[in-house]
Amino acid sequence: MTKYIFVTGGVLSSVGKGVTTASIAMLIKSMGYSVTAIKIDPYINVDAGTMNPYAHGEVFVTEDGGETDLDLGHYERFLNVNLSKRNNITTGQIYYSVIMKERRGEYLGATVQIIPHVTDEIKSSIRSIAKEMNADVVLVEIGGTVGDIEGLPFLEAIRQMRLEEGFYNTLFVHVALVPMLKATGEQKTKPVQHSVQELRRIGIQPDVIIARCEKPLEPEARKKIALYSNVPPEAVFSNHDVETIYEVPLVLYEQGLLRIVCERLRLEYREPDLSKWVDFVAKLKSASFKLRIAMIGKYTKLRDSYISIVEAIKHASAHQGVKPEFIWIESTDVEQGSVRVEDVLGNVDCALILPGFGKRGTEGKVKAIRYLRENNIPTLGICFGFQMMIVEFARNVLGLKDANSRELDPNTANPVVDLLPSQQNLQFMGGTMRLGAKPIKLIRGTLVYEAYKKDVVFERHRHRYAFNTKYVDVFESSGFVISGFSYDGVIEFMELKDHRFFVGTQSHPEFKSRPLNPSPLYNFFIYVSKEYARSSAR
Ligand code: GLN
Repeated sequence: MTKYIFVTGGVLSSVGKGVTTASIAMLIKSMGYSVTAIKIDPYINVDAGTMNPYAHGEVFVTEDGGETDLDLGHYERFLNVNLSKRNNITTGQIYYSVIMKERRGEYLGATVQIIPHVTDEIKSSIRSIAKEMNADVVLVEIGGTVGDIEGLPFLEAIRQMRLEEGFYNTLFVHVALVPMLKATGEQKTKPVQHSVQELRRIGIQPDVIIARCEKPLEPEARKKIALYSNVPPEAVFSNHDVETIYEVPLVLYEQGLLRIVCERLRLEYREPDLSKWVDFVAKLKSASFKLRIAMIGKYTKLRDSYISIVEAIKHASAHQGVKPEFIWIESTDVEQGSVRVEDVLGNVDCALILPGFGKRGTEGKVKAIRYLRENNIPTLGICFGFQMMIVEFARNVLGLKDANSRELDPNTANPVVDLLPSQQNLQFMGGTMRLGAKPIKLIRGTLVYEAYKKDVVFERHRHRYAFNTKYVDVFESSGFVISGFSYDGVIEFMELKDHRFFVGTQSHPEFKSRPLNPSPLYNFFIYVSKEYARSSAR
């Protein structure tokens, strides 16, 4: 019998419900159960692919090419598994399939309604993933906040699931913010009380409350929350701010979360082995060698836009014993000349050229890349970042002054980055990029090969444009060589010969980086950068 844990959120969004869900999932998996996690996004978009990263954060790409919510990234990193695009359910998907069924006449003349047709569709999506993944325990996180209009059909569906699956097979976890008044330092529980009331109004009595707070939850506050939420005090947990998100499972474990979960779900309690995780957290926190990493992109004001890259750097840094110091550089500022490259890059140890779309800020990226290339500073370009490395090299080394990506200048005489043939004349923008994991053949003797130490690797993708293979020979004869390509002819990795580390990739290795298993490319990049920082007089 599958057990379902439903996670709802109260008071505010962005309080770390995704990390909390991932943490619970990871703890249960550590007991030896098979676990999967589903994110429900109540918006009407079919997937996150068409959403602006500036508003919504990063689009996380799954192995099977789903463009999903960034919480799937947390789930994959904490659970150390590849999830499917089906692990992200949206209102758009649910309505899409209900409407298709209606058009096919499958409702046999019925009036199609939110209850039962939409709620049935939601329940059957959840159950079919549970079955497909053969999971003992499925966590289902409902995005947004209790009380949002969009979320109602989902809450109604999980309310029904309690009845259908049974009390001992379902658990409701409510994650809510407990603000602290600066003046008195007092933790205020009223917002939690209200959000629990709102949940109860729609028929859901939470079993566990997880209080997000700045400082550990005070006994007084815990008692109050328990009383007003109608749960025992042992079922109220403090999820206070910690140095790194990877500590959250440990914080919850220490308070006995697994005992409560096992008791309520009638699961056999098994003492989890968290030693490797504890080691990783200790390494992450104790690393003292500071590495100054320039992060050059145009969505730098919303850090969540690059969350998988930041996490991949943290994983690699823990393994390399370095403490990353992120220096965020807005490429638009460089473009407009309000900051000078030598000022912002003058004392960094390495740089990442971040992914992106569209023209704004690109000339800033090109300027920065030139400085990094000429000054032999370790540089890693990801996807669009790689494409800008190609443009910079074409202009400043090959002398093709007007070289550009066709995405930025459709009429350029030297489209060194061009639209992939498979991307021509598309009718739909959603879900049509070159997506997901592809096999990539690496070339021996290159830095990239040294990083992976494998002939074939699988990395994930999300792009429409790529290096124009007509230019391969001129690039290679000037020292910017191919270090990996995929079987459909896309140049996947390139590197500059006479440079410490000047590597670009069309793929997104960050999506597969895990705390205990860092991305080989990021790991090698951090290693080279550390050696460089050590050797340079600082
Ligand atoms: N805009 C570029 C493309 O579509 C790069 C996309 C990215 O960085 N993910 O090819």
